[in-house]
Amino acid sequence: MSQTTVTAASAAEVAAELRARRAFVMVSHVKPDGDTLGAGLALGIALKRLGKRVHYFQQDPVPRNLRFLPDAECVAGELPADLPDDALFVFCDMSDAARAGERLPAITRDNMLDIDHHLGNAMFGRLNFVLPSECSTGTVVMHLMRELGVEIDARIATCLLTTIMTDTGGFMHSNTTPAVLELSAELMRCGADKEAITEQIFLNKRVAATRLLAKIVDVMQFAHDNRYCYSYVDDTMLAQTGADGEDTEDTVNVLRGQEGVEVAALFKAYDGEIRVSLRSNGSVNVQAAAHRLGGGGHFRAAGLTFAGSLSDAIAAVDAALVAQGL
Ligand code: AMP
Ligand code: MN
Ligand code: MN
Repeated sequence: MSQTTVTAASAAEVAAELRARRAFVMVSHVKPDGDTLGAGLALGIALKRLGKRVHYFQQDPVPRNLRFLPDAECVAGELPADLPDDALFVFCDMSDAARAGERLPAITRDNMLDIDHHLGNAMFGRLNFVLPSECSTGTVVMHLMRELGVEIDARIATCLLTTIMTDTGGFMHSNTTPAVLELSAELMRCGADKEAITEQIFLNKRVAATRLLAKIVDVMQFAHDNRYCYSYVDDTMLAQTGADGEDTEDTVNVLRGQEGVEVAALFKAYDGEIRVSLRSNGSVNVQAAAHRLGGGGHFRAAGLTFAGSLSDAIAAVDAALVAQGL
């Protein structure tokens, strides 16, 4: 807490910091997913059990499909007025603090802990516990739980299994290693509600979402010998179907899943900005492509926000992917 140095921290150092602080704010990234939120909730519940004061900050509301998570009702879009000056802000699942959104007030680096698994993490915290080989930020948090000696109860287990199932695409992506399956089994034995996770996150689609998917599929395009599939969603398509941004979450995987497709992109051109989701079968590094355009992510799953028109975004992403070997 004394001086500002940037370090890659060990689990023991982070655990010592967690024990030393009294108050915490768990911070999730904008457009939250089950990893950023599940990791923060799991660690928050564990810290509460250690007698700590814990708040959750997330700029965007909790998505409908994550409201079943234990403590999700405690998540707020603002900070409490009486937060102590030495509260530790724990950023979960983001390569850069800016991913927390512009509504989070500036925080001194001394009060920032960065827990993540992204490639190219900016190491923005005083302590940075970043393990890119982990499948989810939740499994990074599991290392800290072990170090803290916190028993994983059913609520924590449900949050952690959610992080794994979200970031492995329900155990389908290549980050689903034997160790990940073993950890998942351990979490189920601790009481993780896999049924609820499957039902809430992977099934339970709104009819509006399925109608939107039909529109997105209707305008999808193929390029580069059909190895690249891309499509878009705009305000008109949302208005026509009654869907919203949360309903687009899985769609890029449908594009990537088309026969022969190696790379897919979904251009989300609504609410006054263009956000791009990229997915790869492993032949092209989409994190590197996204990074060229100011975004980030993982080798096979990445994203970026583009300033400009939809056609410019499509051209810029195409060029970035070609530069990565598409
Ligand atoms: P998404 O397509 O939104 O599911 O994001 C895929 C991956 O890319 C996730 O790991 C995100 O954290 C990351 N990502 C998405 N958008 C951005 C961005 N604008 N900047 C950095 N990383 C991003
Ligand atoms: Mn995430
Ligand atoms: Mn993640």
